[in-house]
Amino acid sequence: MHRLFGVLIFISFIYTVFSTSVSANEALTREEILANRMDYYMKYSSVEVPWYYLAAMDQFERNIQEVRNDLEKREEPISINFPAHFWVGVDNPFFEDQSTFSIAYFNGIGKDGNGDGFANRQDPDDILYTLAEFLVSYAYEENGFEQALLDYYETKEIVHQVLTIAKIYAYFETNALDKRAFPLPTTAHYSYRGTWGASRGWGGRRIHEGTDLFAGYGVPVRSVSYGVIEVMGWNEYGGWRVGIRDMHNTYHYYAHLSSFNKEFKEGSIVEPGDVIGYVGSSGYGKEGTSGRFPPHLHYGMYKFNGRVEWAFDPYPHLRNWEREKE
Ligand SMILES: [Zn+2]
Repeated sequence: MHRLFGVLIFISFIYTVFSTSVSANEALTREEILANRMDYYMKYSSVEVPWYYLAAMDQFERNIQEVRNDLEKREEPISINFPAHFWVGVDNPFFEDQSTFSIAYFNGIGKDGNGDGFANRQDPDDILYTLAEFLVSYAYEENGFEQALLDYYETKEIVHQVLTIAKIYAYFETNALDKRAFPLPTTAHYSYRGTWGASRGWGGRRIHEGTDLFAGYGVPVRSVSYGVIEVMGWNEYGGWRVGIRDMHNTYHYYAHLSSFNKEFKEGSIVEPGDVIGYVGSSGYGKEGTSGRFPPHLHYGMYKFNGRVEWAFDPYPHLRNWEREKE
């Protein structure tokens, strides 16, 4: 009888939370949404669990929910979606259990963060409190955060993506990182077209995964986003190329450069507009090959959905960044 009463309370509670959060979101600006998330991260951060650990996991889950249709898309402010069996305990027969007592009995991870007596898998306070408690249990291990991520996601690529997001947030000390830049100075002479899917002349019948921006030798190539330089070196197709991973699970690929900006190396953090190298015609052969085609920047975008990484068309994004300038 008490349980039934609890369930009814829960249903009306959920209804209230969702109906208010939806109408509240309509009124929020982008800045307010980001500030609201930050308030939640700060509330549950500590010396052992800095805010950017919570923020990085939250952002990663938001990223994959945007591109996967097999995942539930969470409402603002917090996107972290604990699997039900993890929250209530693997052997707990009641998947929607919110009783802290029985969740603890079944070794579930779910906890009550806001003191309302329920461990609610949908409540941002309960989610972040639970996450912080989970992470703090690793705080005194070497690379504890990395180990916690590996235990939770069980995939090295996901761990790498989440660590990248955390590194960017920690460096800039904010989650308000929406700025973008066009990859070439908009004052330079250049031209590009939407050539998505056009065939490439060399290296077999692979589709052309990116956009070619034709410009003169030595025109600066700039990072379009905040991110971490993941690769910087030679590749037989791309020549001297740079790969940068951002906090939206996007990998940005800049190829055929004549040279790099020596201030940066693999692991460096960049922001939009940072010069990473210069336009050239390197590639399509062994290291140092150049001049087999007109100088241009090949720019590619790849999205990681938590399982696979695939190429998508940069052209519409380039048009937007070009229009916005800086
Ligand atoms: Zn190209």
